[in-house]
Amino acid sequence: MKEFKVLIIGAGPGGISMAAEARAAGICKEDVMVFDKASEHSYVIRSLYPEKKMVTANFKGIKAVCHGAMCLPDTDKEGTISYMDKVIESAGINVQYNEEVQKVKAIGNSIDPLFEIQTSSGKYRSMIVIVAIGVFGKPNKPSYTLPIQLRKKIHFDVNSFQAENENILVVGGGDSASEYAQYLAEFGNRLSLSYRRDSLLRMNPVNKESALLLEENDQLEILWSSNINEISVLENGKPVVHFEEDKYATKEYDRVVYALGGSTPENFLSTIGIEFVEKALEVDDNHEAKIKGLFVAGDLASGKKGGSIVAAFNSSRVVMSHICYSYIECYKKDERLKFDYHTLHFIDSEGKENLDV
Ligand SMILES: Cc1cc2nc3c(=O)[nH]c(=O)nc-3n(C[C@H](O)[C@H](O)[C@H](O)COP(=O)(O)OP(=O)(O)OC[C@H]3O[C@@H](n4cnc5c(N)ncnc54)[C@H](O)[C@@H]3O)c2cc1C
Repeated sequence: MKEFKVLIIGAGPGGISMAAEARAAGICKEDVMVFDKASEHSYVIRSLYPEKKMVTANFKGIKAVCHGAMCLPDTDKEGTISYMDKVIESAGINVQYNEEVQKVKAIGNSIDPLFEIQTSSGKYRSMIVIVAIGVFGKPNKPSYTLPIQLRKKIHFDVNSFQAENENILVVGGGDSASEYAQYLAEFGNRLSLSYRRDSLLRMNPVNKESALLLEENDQLEILWSSNINEISVLENGKPVVHFEEDKYATKEYDRVVYALGGSTPENFLSTIGIEFVEKALEVDDNHEAKIKGLFVAGDLASGKKGGSIVAAFNSSRVVMSHICYSYIECYKKDERLKFDYHTLHFIDSEGKENLDV
């Protein structure tokens, strides 16, 4: 059975930065393995971000100050994916794609942790396991039932369909809702945004301004303080949206796109021994679960407030520092390396390239 020192579940920003941290801590590449159930890394970014989306480093107002090996300035979707590609290559990160982790069983003790990991293709052992599976496994759905006949007209992302000159209702009030509207407006679609509040408090300033600009240019109608209570199907196969508020008439659209965020894959987490207490994951400040040697990184480490790419990178530094402190002898006890964004090499605290890793 193959054995690793550090095994990471998920190859998104959390998982890749976790592997980069392990490499920056001097752990050799054969001892670090990342598994992802998708066929490529950054699956969520590839599948949920609209093309040409601006990727803001201070997403959701989370400060974009990087503490760890990886860092990203404001860029676009392609720039983000290409940065991750380069880190994987330059840092020598092993990623096993199309392999879903199904079970993690602790077989060690609190001083010498050891885990047995069952994937869709085999069994492995690892001293440390980090779960970085994000929160977008399942997109949040509305509480009312969506008619099955509308499955090709109701969406939870903007990459699974193509629409031009259509009437589309976007539901939600966060950054994704604004980004979906901006993307769909580029194809001449006429957009409405249904949001239950009377101001766009949850959007970052760029997305808020963009949404309000679309409204000003008559490309977007914002249905403030609106709540949908039903969606039915017309004979022509289109969705009809019924609102709770009398001021909004029942209306036919070509499509409805939900941007309601995602929900943590609770079942998987509780199966592997990470429990929820009052809707928050039961992990300590180092993102370590009650089972020693088992950690979370990325969005799972951000808690209820939600995460960002830079927050995911930073969470991996916290986890790695604790691993070096408690379990694995790392490169230098008090000094961690950074991954230089421009030269794509690890550098030390004085900015000198370090080629030992
Ligand atoms: C539409 C949208 C726009 C956003 N815009 C921004 C932005 O502009 N700036 C920003 O900083 N942040 C943005 N975010 C947030 C950012 O994408 C997340 O914070 C980030 O992706 C979290 O990284 P992660 O690694 O924790 O999880 P994810 O990116 O969700 O990655 C999890 C990975 O785990 C894999 N996985 C899941 N289960 C298993 C399993 N059992 N076995 C193996 N693999 C598994 C998945 O395939 C996936 O690749 C946005 C999010 C969305 C949805």
